[in-house]
Amino acid sequence: MAGFIFAAKITYGVRNMQCTTNRPGDECKFMGKKGCTFLGGACFQIVEKCEGCNKIVETAAGRFCAVFPHPEMKWKRGVCNFASHVKPEIRQDASGKAINPLKAAKRASRGR
Ligand code: SF4
Repeated sequence: MAGFIFAAKITYGVRNMQCTTNRPGDECKFMGKKGCTFLGGACFQIVEKCEGCNKIVETAAGRFCAVFPHPEMKWKRGVCNFASHVKPEIRQDASGKAINPLKAAKRASRGR
């Protein structure tokens, strides 16, 4: 327990550095002493599917996501899990009950 409290105190005090590229002034975990460490040295602009999300930040450099540096990647495998304007489709069985994707995958691997 003491170890947990000690670890929590260490991580609680960590502050991210402020962006100096596309979102100047915003704290970002990718910002380092030598500049932005993200792919290509800066975050990417939002994509069309992001339109309507409340996490869009507009700066002089363009429109960016406040929580993820590469919005296009967030939409590669379906709906962005941070999106505020779209909810992921919940699959249902014939009776209208929600299907647990983990249990469905297990059932499928057993051939049921
Ligand atoms: S949270 Fe997702 S949908 Fe919203 S702006 Fe960021 S990447 Fe786009």
